[in-house]
Amino acid sequence: MSATLLDGTALSRTVRNEVKDRVSALVAAGHRAPKLVAVLAGDDPASETYVGMKQRACAWVGIESETLRMSGATSQEEAEAVIRRLNADASVDGVLVQHPLPKHIDEAAVLRLLDPAKDVDGVTPASMGALLAGDDRAFAACTPLGIMELLSRYDIPVEGKRAVVIGRSVILGKPLALLLLARNATVTICHSRTRDLADRTREADLLFAAIGKPEMIKASMIKPGAVVVDAGYNRVEGRKADVGDVDFEPTSEVAAYITPVPGGVGPMTIAMLLRNTTEAAERRAATAP
Ligand code: NAP
Repeated sequence: MSATLLDGTALSRTVRNEVKDRVSALVAAGHRAPKLVAVLAGDDPASETYVGMKQRACAWVGIESETLRMSGATSQEEAEAVIRRLNADASVDGVLVQHPLPKHIDEAAVLRLLDPAKDVDGVTPASMGALLAGDDRAFAACTPLGIMELLSRYDIPVEGKRAVVIGRSVILGKPLALLLLARNATVTICHSRTRDLADRTREADLLFAAIGKPEMIKASMIKPGAVVVDAGYNRVEGRKADVGDVDFEPTSEVAAYITPVPGGVGPMTIAMLLRNTTEAAERRAATAP
């Protein structure tokens, strides 16, 4: 392997330590600890796992966390009432609506109600719109934010570079493209209807895979010396470990930098959730009477 690993596990530890210090400083200044509430509806086991991981991470840095569980039969009105209540609750700094909500719930309508100041997951239309408008007071979605943090901490230049993002989901591909644009990259977004994908990917100085297709990006699709960031996380029948969207071993012979899966983008996502929640609490403290 010749590429340098972008080690998200190690970097997320550094970020968590920084967040822990910020939480301690807030408390030492006489403010309460930040508080994150996760809203969970139904009994999706993956959602339970994700929320559990986020709660453990919160506890580690001193963020208070709570899970608000609603039954799978919760009505639209009840779900919306929960968000209104959390908006009005001065003891809550951040709210995370765990995707997916049950199918009969209009998730977009629920998210539209959430106060952007508490949208630490960066998923509401208001937060997305602010990102588009270049308003950096809004919280950006945690996975793209974590990817940008990886690039910064490894001193990877972005300005003027040719960045290619494969994937255009609302939580990942699109906000990532906007964050790259804000750092003055020249950005191409590819998706399932893109023609000649390999021609586009071979142009990339910075290549981001956010597809959800195991090992779809092959070494032959990479420009030698490129930075390859793999956000994919895929379970494959008959294989013990989960794999990314990039065919890791051969690609790491061509790329200059590459993220492993697991241990690349994933841990950074949770670290950004902790940082956004702390930021929300610091802003609240700064305006407290
Ligand atoms: P998604 O909503 O399914 O979006 C996938 C995107 O990939 C779509 O824009 C789709 O294009 C595009 N695509 C699909 N097949 C393609 C192909 N053959 N060629 C080019 N583009 C193609 O998925 P997502 O939520 O963004 O997640 C993507 C991956 O990231 C998944 O593996 C997911 O598990 C992972 N993920 C990881 C984290 C983390 O914390 N590490 C967080 C979120 C997601 P169309 O728009 O044309 O359909």
